[in-house]
Amino acid sequence: MAVSTPALEFSTTLSSNPVPAAQRAEILASPGFGTRFTDHMISATWTPEAGWHDAGLRPYAPLSLDPATATLHYAQAIFEGLKAYRHDDGSIWAFRPEANGARFARSAARMALPELPVESFVESLDLLVRTDAEWVPSGSEASLYLRPFMFASEVFLGVRPAKHVTYAVIASPAGAYFASGVKPVSIWLTSEYTRAAPGGTGAAKCAGNYAASLIAQQEALENGCDQVCFLDALEGTWVEELGGMNLYFVRSDGSVTTPELTGTILEGITRDSILTLAADLGHKVEERPVSIDEWRDGVASGEITEVFACGTAAAITPLGRLAWDGGELSMGERPGPVTQALREALLDVQYGRAPDRHGWMHRI
Ligand code: PMP
Repeated sequence: MAVSTPALEFSTTLSSNPVPAAQRAEILASPGFGTRFTDHMISATWTPEAGWHDAGLRPYAPLSLDPATATLHYAQAIFEGLKAYRHDDGSIWAFRPEANGARFARSAARMALPELPVESFVESLDLLVRTDAEWVPSGSEASLYLRPFMFASEVFLGVRPAKHVTYAVIASPAGAYFASGVKPVSIWLTSEYTRAAPGGTGAAKCAGNYAASLIAQQEALENGCDQVCFLDALEGTWVEELGGMNLYFVRSDGSVTTPELTGTILEGITRDSILTLAADLGHKVEERPVSIDEWRDGVASGEITEVFACGTAAAITPLGRLAWDGGELSMGERPGPVTQALREALLDVQYGRAPDRHGWMHRI
């Protein structure tokens, strides 16, 4: 799609029926995740003739979809996930929203959806969060989760890129991921399912990737694990990522390694930030292929001392156990020191407790 798409102009229509302050306070006291939404949303429409138009902030409301809406049939749909954090002085900040906007544009290109200018992506978040600022919680590790998404809204059953597309953003208060302290999670290594093949959609944040991962996640739960780890689709040798997080390995010499981006792994913003933060903390950092044998043998020999996963939802999550059909491996019952130090360093930047040396925070 043309890179020269002009920035959108957003109108504002405020809700005449916002959630009363007392009820909002009750929701913010224990928000959970993903079930409560703020008073407003963003939406915009794209057609080939008019480009992006009808962009605005509006009261949060259900969408009405014709049963023949293309996205319901062919999943031409993408999304993003990022957070707004309230700092101690009451100010509100997003973490690297331009990076999410750039990834959203790459996902759109892969799914033959129209480009949304990154500045309009960021402006839409600013407008929504500014309007619903009272919904940004202030508790430790609490945040306002932002969910931008785009989908084929054309009413047409032909299989081709839609000529009517909708962009929207909704926001949902989120509590601390680890409400009772950081606890290592257990991981199921699936040999039955893969997530992404070369030439496929693994690097795009498209709806279908998540639909395809659900059965593997179910397999993980059936095997007593919290989450699933995928290997590469060609050889079943190389460690890729979890269903919704990237992976890091810490070695006995203090170096940290993450599987390199191959086009089948989602390019996590947290993954990318940790490459920088780990170097800041004096660690040698590598991006390279990591085989499942290297993981298993490395933990067994003591060469790999910590393994953690990373993503917007939980920041950094230590891994405590890896299980597969026929075996398992323990990686410790408590978060390791490097995992903890990186987690603290990341959260300190996000919550404004440490200087923002890399210009990652965007004031709303
Ligand atoms: N991998 C997958 C498959 C994901 O869905 C996510 C969450 N967006 C991540 C990795 C982590 O990405 P980020 O750090 O940008 O949240």
